[in-house]
Amino acid sequence: MTDARRRSRLVVLAGPTAVGKGTVAADVRRHHPEVWISVSATTRPPRPGEQDGVHYWFVDDEQFDAMVERGDLLEWAVVHKAARYGTPRQPVEAVLAEGRPAMLEIDLQGARQVRETMPDALFVFLGPPSWDELVRRLVGRGTETEEERERRLVTAREELAAEAEFDVSIVNHEVHAAAEELVAFMLQSPTDL
Ligand code: 5GP
Repeated sequence: MTDARRRSRLVVLAGPTAVGKGTVAADVRRHHPEVWISVSATTRPPRPGEQDGVHYWFVDDEQFDAMVERGDLLEWAVVHKAARYGTPRQPVEAVLAEGRPAMLEIDLQGARQVRETMPDALFVFLGPPSWDELVRRLVGRGTETEEERERRLVTAREELAAEAEFDVSIVNHEVHAAAEELVAFMLQSPTDL
């Protein structure tokens, strides 16, 4: 592990759909305000209760195109063949320059892009206790249509197969425990990993 990773203090959290990345990130936000969590831009419409600038920056296709053209995004991807999601570059760079720990919660395609541009980041894979449990969580969430669910499960199988690309794995048995494990990775000396 390099000194640059210690300096960058960037953690990229990825893992299959419905594994609970968003919930784990929310738990980190609640208990560890010292950890800055990136707010992505997306072209998908807000779900009930989601707020612009808090959960996502909700933008239209034209606005997203403009961000891509200006090079404003650190990475971006079409997720579940449905919408585009991307990480605004400037806030991440500003937070890292301050030496604060920063976290991105993004999909596998995005994680692979960040691996190219910021190889010193720590890549963390959040996995489900089992495949059946992942399916149960996706169905239980009830926010997707049947067709959307099928599409997400196909993507999830591919995403699970990518676990070996990551520096460390965490199994999301229970949200708060997984969040604490994640923060421990963020705050411990990189040479311990
Ligand atoms: P959801 O629509 O359920 O909020 O998120 C769908 C997927 O998009 C999740 O797997 C989430 O990790 C991913 N995602 C959220 N923000 C970003 C981003 O900025 N970039 C990429 N590549 N994926 C993202």
